[in-house]
Amino acid sequence: MRQLLEPQLVNDVFGDPGLYVDLHDEPRALLFDLGEVGALPPRKLLRVSHVFVSHTHVDHFVGFDQLLRVLLGRKRALVLGGGPGFIEQVRHKLHAYTWNVVHRYEVELVLDVHEFDPAGLRRHARFSSRRAFALEPVGAGPWPDDVLLDEVLFRVRGRFVDHEMPCLAFAIEEKARPRVAKDRIAALGVSTGAWLRELKLAILSGAPADTPIELRWRDRAGEHSTTRRVGELADVVLDVAPGRRIGYVTDLRFTPANRDTLRLLLAGVDQLFIESVFLDSELAHATRKNHLTARQAGLIARELGARAVVPFHFSPRYEQRPQALRAELRAAWLGRDDRPAAEAAARTADPASD
Ligand SMILES: [Zn+2]
Ligand SMILES: [Zn+2]
Repeated sequence: MRQLLEPQLVNDVFGDPGLYVDLHDEPRALLFDLGEVGALPPRKLLRVSHVFVSHTHVDHFVGFDQLLRVLLGRKRALVLGGGPGFIEQVRHKLHAYTWNVVHRYEVELVLDVHEFDPAGLRRHARFSSRRAFALEPVGAGPWPDDVLLDEVLFRVRGRFVDHEMPCLAFAIEEKARPRVAKDRIAALGVSTGAWLRELKLAILSGAPADTPIELRWRDRAGEHSTTRRVGELADVVLDVAPGRRIGYVTDLRFTPANRDTLRLLLAGVDQLFIESVFLDSELAHATRKNHLTARQAGLIARELGARAVVPFHFSPRYEQRPQALRAELRAAWLGRDDRPAAEAAARTADPASD
């Protein structure tokens, strides 16, 4: 069965960090981090409905302008989420340009920006091309748990890790996945079609049994359409399988507090995308730069019980030997690295490395 979430790194391992998560069966995608995004063709950028920015170091935010350029005049809405100060930073980005004609564009572009802070508050502001992207406060309130976006089919959670500044780590979680029996569909005298997605949505959102579903499908005899109730169709759903969980973790120090936070967010994750910036032989340098070594990334993946790991955000100093970083990460993840994690933690906390 095809997956709902189809993640891919935006750039190669030496390029700016970013994860593009396509939502299968929906005309849209999610984007995590907004560094250089020129590798994504406009058709893919136009699919993006939500962007989550871990932190606003330049390699994670410089692509805002590229994305804006592609969306302007073509797309109606984009939602952005980020950490402390994010609304003001988006405002600064927008106000570096002159907007004396965009209010006349036929397609209005509205940016909804959500700012989360580690104290548990969220703020929401809007910027519209019709009003020259002037800041419009929409609301503010508590952010009681770690959910950044909650939809019927999936949710996005985020928690702050320490990168000598707050930086969001993300979990992208497909909710339960109803599995259907093809033979039972045939027994009803109908064929599969877009209605199956509607039925799955109805089941996951707990719709009443008498909710009508319009079945449309096409076969050799042509177009067909009939209406059935959710209750009548419930039999085609065999069971509900757990959804897949993806982690996106970048720009952080290897501290006990960060590792605790990641456990709360990502224990048992199916696929973990994690930065692996330096080799462990350059631990002191990695520590000064507030980044993970490949070994530390592997230890984290092991602690989380990650079922698959994809490293990225390699330092350009390894351009000739990216395999060394991959091998180091893999050895730590598989437990083939015999030095205990505590030793690495103690060395990371060494005050000699500023
Ligand atoms: Zn970075
Ligand atoms: Zn950074």
